[in-house]
Amino acid sequence: MLGRLAGVAGLALLLLAAALSARVPGVDLPFGGLTKLWRTHHLLGAGSLLLLLIHPLLLAFAASAWGQGLAFDTLFPPLADRATWAGWLALLLMMTFLAPSFAFFGAPNYERWKRVHALAGPAVILALIHTFLFSRTMPGPTDTIIWSLFALLGVGAVGWRLVFSRRIGRLPYTITRVDAVADGIAELSLRPEKTHLAYSAGNFVYLTPLDPGLAAGHREEHPYTLSSSPLEPELRIAIKALGDASRAIQTIPVGTPVTVEGPYGRFFPTDARVTTPELWVAGGVGITPFLARMRHLRALGERGDIHLVYGVQDESRTVYGEELRQLAAEIPGCALTFHYYFQEGPVTAAFLATACPDLARRDVYICGPLALNQLIRDHVRKAGVSADRIHSEEFELL
Ligand SMILES: Cc1cc2nc3c(=O)[nH]c(=O)nc-3n(C[C@H](O)[C@H](O)[C@H](O)COP(=O)(O)OP(=O)(O)OC[C@H]3O[C@@H](n4cnc5c(N)ncnc54)[C@H](O)[C@@H]3O)c2cc1C
Repeated sequence: MLGRLAGVAGLALLLLAAALSARVPGVDLPFGGLTKLWRTHHLLGAGSLLLLLIHPLLLAFAASAWGQGLAFDTLFPPLADRATWAGWLALLLMMTFLAPSFAFFGAPNYERWKRVHALAGPAVILALIHTFLFSRTMPGPTDTIIWSLFALLGVGAVGWRLVFSRRIGRLPYTITRVDAVADGIAELSLRPEKTHLAYSAGNFVYLTPLDPGLAAGHREEHPYTLSSSPLEPELRIAIKALGDASRAIQTIPVGTPVTVEGPYGRFFPTDARVTTPELWVAGGVGITPFLARMRHLRALGERGDIHLVYGVQDESRTVYGEELRQLAAEIPGCALTFHYYFQEGPVTAAFLATACPDLARRDVYICGPLALNQLIRDHVRKAGVSADRIHSEEFELL
């Protein structure tokens, strides 16, 4: 019974994980944004793998009460037993496509990881064949109905991702400007060719450049935060050269067609007005969601109660330094402090307390490298900010 329950629960978790992979804009909001939704997806996947590994072991253990031969036959029946072998194949594929997601195997190459992850499709189908051939736990067609509904959810989500989202979810845009805003960072401006994306400051999109001449990244979708105000007629995206695709895009020609899918994420809880006192901490290119919000506040003529601490390596590497100073001067109730890592070292609790003495009464928003995120979390927690008032956006999905 436990063996069968492990199988049922494992497949249910696998299909729910598949359903979450649909990436339909807006569905990520109840999860607190797409990066947090992916975390739930990972947990469901890992839980499913664990249960499905236990499933055959428990069945064989139960059969061993009647002798080791039966235990062996339960695990490895004759080849004609398609149901069992479909199950084994599904499990094998699952171990293959999930293995690179575990930190144990080191940091994966994203594109290779994505290709291996595509084995999830056949694994799910084989697991469903296994279950449909074996289902006999509940009376009448109940098993079939329940699994069909789950299957519809999982397979429908994957179908949406691979077919429909490419046709109707991606909006066509054209690159109208490429500005080098700092060494290794380019800001792209994108003109809508059909509908303009509706989004909030702090949202991100998946950008797919369509230029076979690119050294890397042609037809590859990558997530980037929108740095423009939602009121602007064009989208703006600031891209730091971190790997092959983001490096190649630095010199993408004006006039290149791209597609944009989204919006995703829920960094800021409200659309426009700042209603609570806030401390914003940005590191490097992590300034983009804050820049979008400041551009939006200024365009609306809104005020804020904001203190932005912007950490960069040194003054020469400050992105948007002049514009940020100007925005802070023009938005009433907005203060700005720079932190230079090469001169001052990591941000200390004392630095934060001096820059923003009333930080304990503020909600905290952090966007930057993981190390900065963790450091600031520790400082503000110790200063008395509760965990539910600390919000962060990570630029990493794996
Ligand atoms: C929510 C979010 C918002 C982001 N906003 C910005 C931004 O405003 N500006 C900016 O410069 N960068 C942003 N990034 C980071 C950006 O997506 C990566 O730097 C870029 O995808 C790197 O691709 P690459 O091929 O150049 O580098 P690689 O060397 O291939 O990858 C470097 C790392 O980037 C991530 N990555 C690579 N390819 C993808 C992909 N297709 N999808 C998801 N992650 C991938 C992986 O974690 C990988 O380890 C954001 C990331 C996320 C998740």
